[in-house]
Amino acid sequence: MSRFLKKQYENLEPYTPGEQPQNIKLIKLNTNENPYPPSPKVIQAIEGANLEDLRRYPDPGVVNLVQAIAGYYQVDTDQVMVGNGSDEVLAFAFMAFQNPEKKIYFPQISYGFYPVYGDVFGANWEGIPLTEDLRINPEDYKNLEGTIVIANPNAPTGIALTLDEIEAIVASNRENLVVIDEAYVDFGGETAIYLTQKYDNLLVIQTFSKSRSLAGSRIGFAVGSSEIISDLNKIKFSFNPYNINKLTILAATAAIKDKKYFRQTRDKIMKTRENFGKELTNLGFTVLPSSANFVFCKSNQISGLKYFTELGERNIIVRHFNKKHIRDYVRITIGREEEMVKLLEVTKAILNEGDIR
Ligand SMILES: *Cc1c(COP(=O)(O)O)cnc(C)c1O
Repeated sequence: MSRFLKKQYENLEPYTPGEQPQNIKLIKLNTNENPYPPSPKVIQAIEGANLEDLRRYPDPGVVNLVQAIAGYYQVDTDQVMVGNGSDEVLAFAFMAFQNPEKKIYFPQISYGFYPVYGDVFGANWEGIPLTEDLRINPEDYKNLEGTIVIANPNAPTGIALTLDEIEAIVASNRENLVVIDEAYVDFGGETAIYLTQKYDNLLVIQTFSKSRSLAGSRIGFAVGSSEIISDLNKIKFSFNPYNINKLTILAATAAIKDKKYFRQTRDKIMKTRENFGKELTNLGFTVLPSSANFVFCKSNQISGLKYFTELGERNIIVRHFNKKHIRDYVRITIGREEEMVKLLEVTKAILNEGDIR
């Protein structure tokens, strides 16, 4: 730390991203990326780009993409804003929607970025514990005083609340903003986007990183009332008006238009998840019911850390959180069918090494 750092940041604990080893051949199931490439239409769009045009700034209003997303969800264009990954949209939301007298509430076990954004933007925040079986109890989020952020499906459990449960939370908090982070919703959850037409205290955030195979392009978006969206744009234009680069705009616009490819790849991932979950259960694992492109599971034989380490030694990387309540578990991204078969083989070998707890 230099002597120039602002006092407020002295003890700031940054977010720890999953490992991103470059140029090494391994089975990478640690950061919930899509195992399939982006739609061929995306690749065509980028290949067809006029690269000389990169000398110019991109469209700060990101109009083409905003229109494509608004059209897809049948909302007005002034109800949509896009960010450099949904992480940026979440950051803008944490910056914009806080009040020193009130808190920002989110589940104690959820996306690791929420407490970091709370800290970096100086918010007063509180993590609400999950139930014993690692679920969000909707009752805990009713009639609060402050902004509420819920990942649905939750991470890293993969468990989803129903749309009715989300609506009940939103309806009981008309004076609070409720932010629903739907990074994984396409893999089996129900989106709350349509509820934004009925409730002006709801903001839904999604990403192209998971279900649209564009983690490397950095693109996320928010849907809400035009007033909330205009607040987010106020922050964006005070921070980085050109937050989406030209190639990303082309990629994301092509991706959202290719519904067929989206459905095909999503369906494959969901099918692989069901098969993989069954196989893991047969091997004595507890597998939480997942509505996401990953499973959160624990072995009845070896610890989470041991399983994680043993897999790593065999060039398979998954995610382990050394954190109270969940350290017995590992989170495994759903990859291609053949990657999951390999992982199961390796798991059997690890378990057969005998009592290695
Ligand atoms: C992956 C993820 C994000 C961030 O996605 P980007 O769009 O890549 O920034 C946000 N929320 C949750 C819960 C995630 O898992």
